[in-house]
Amino acid sequence: MEQNIEKYDLIIIGASIAGNYLTYLLSESNLRIAVIEDHEEIGLPFQCAGIVSQKLIQLIELPKEIVLNRVNTAKIVSPSGNFINLSGNERPYVVDRIKLDRLFYNKVKDNPNITYYLGERYKSFEYRIDDGKKYLLIETSKRKIIAKMLIGCDGPLSLVGKQLKVKNDVIYASQIRIKAKFYDHKAAMYFNPKWKQLFGWIVPEGNRIYRIGIASAKDVNKYFKHFLNVLNIDIKDRIDQQGGIIPYGVMNKLAFDNILLLGDAAGQVKATTGGGIIMLLTAAKYASNCIHRCFEDENFSKRLIQKYYEKSCSQTIGRELKLHFIIRLIIENFRSKDFEIFFKIIKENKIEHLVTFYGDMDFPKALIAKLLQNRTVLGFILKFLMKNPVIIFKILKLLF
Ligand SMILES: Cc1cc2nc3c(=O)[nH]c(=O)nc-3n(C[C@H](O)[C@H](O)[C@H](O)COP(=O)(O)OP(=O)(O)OC[C@H]3O[C@@H](n4cnc5c(N)ncnc54)[C@H](O)[C@@H]3O)c2cc1C
Repeated sequence: MEQNIEKYDLIIIGASIAGNYLTYLLSESNLRIAVIEDHEEIGLPFQCAGIVSQKLIQLIELPKEIVLNRVNTAKIVSPSGNFINLSGNERPYVVDRIKLDRLFYNKVKDNPNITYYLGERYKSFEYRIDDGKKYLLIETSKRKIIAKMLIGCDGPLSLVGKQLKVKNDVIYASQIRIKAKFYDHKAAMYFNPKWKQLFGWIVPEGNRIYRIGIASAKDVNKYFKHFLNVLNIDIKDRIDQQGGIIPYGVMNKLAFDNILLLGDAAGQVKATTGGGIIMLLTAAKYASNCIHRCFEDENFSKRLIQKYYEKSCSQTIGRELKLHFIIRLIIENFRSKDFEIFFKIIKENKIEHLVTFYGDMDFPKALIAKLLQNRTVLGFILKFLMKNPVIIFKILKLLF
């Protein structure tokens, strides 16, 4: 092996929620871990609407100060301004995303086995072989490191992924925080064929502050202005402004020799809402189990990582993420008229009160089953699909 090069067992690229949570999960393992983060400060820049389903507390211990607000209703608004209110037992959290990113960092930062290199950019990796065993030579903007495993938690435009020829399709987001007078506990989603890859959102942060944003595949700033006009909001009144990139599609490949991808880097984001936090926290637990296994067996092969990480993810969040994308493909092709018909069906059949919206929205199988039990909904969807055979083709391609 080369001289004067630092050695770690494991390198994690990206110290946002995925990288920090995985580091925390591995912090008892005695593995020597280096975390490389491009930005100087954890949690900044803040790029999130911060709405997370109640499942969050099933996954992590959530300190009170991270929760800014709770939401009890989702208002879904059609392009013509018609709306339905969805509510149920679930009351999603509106979180302080900066504090959430720092939560796990603060728990591990003094661990002698863990080193954070902040303000340092990951550049590339190379495979090397020593004594018949593959390992990695990693280059950052400031050093070279040898490690047995590399974990790409480096977000939607992952450089680790790029080197492995994994590329996420993405959409672009723009958001402001502003004092306004909407509802305190109601989140809103504004659908429009112009920004059809997601929606415009209003998320109540509490204290009359709202996070208002949209995401779209193109012209996001133009559509954001339009959306603010619809809401009668003057952008000059904003407290601050955020941008961001969101993966769009289904989960990507996760496993490679000595390497795995996690979080936005792996496309673990719901195509219905752009939400990634629940998915990546779930995947991080599988990643942590897999990494323990790799080090126990001294086996870092793609086959083992597929078996203990990719397969577990595919059978759980992967399936659900496919469903999210199928829902997205359908909604994306709705014309204004389809929204109106669909909303009428929901209202007339009193489904808005049946659906525990957010709880089911992380894992929508149950929600879809509930909806399709209703003959009118089923008839509407079938008729819509028959009129749009391209979607049927895309769905079949996704499933088989
Ligand atoms: C506007 C917006 C609103 C959102 N709203 C919600 C929401 O309401 N609910 C929800 O659940 N999700 C939401 N999401 C999605 C959520 O923010 C992501 O799923 C989540 O942040 C992904 O975490 P991550 O750690 O995988 O990646 P990221 O948060 O993207 O972090 C990647 C980290 O890697 C670092 N990095 C990248 N490249 C390098 C490199 N070469 N070297 C070193 N470091 C590098 C970056 O600096 C960054 O810190 C939203 C996203 C956006 C953009």
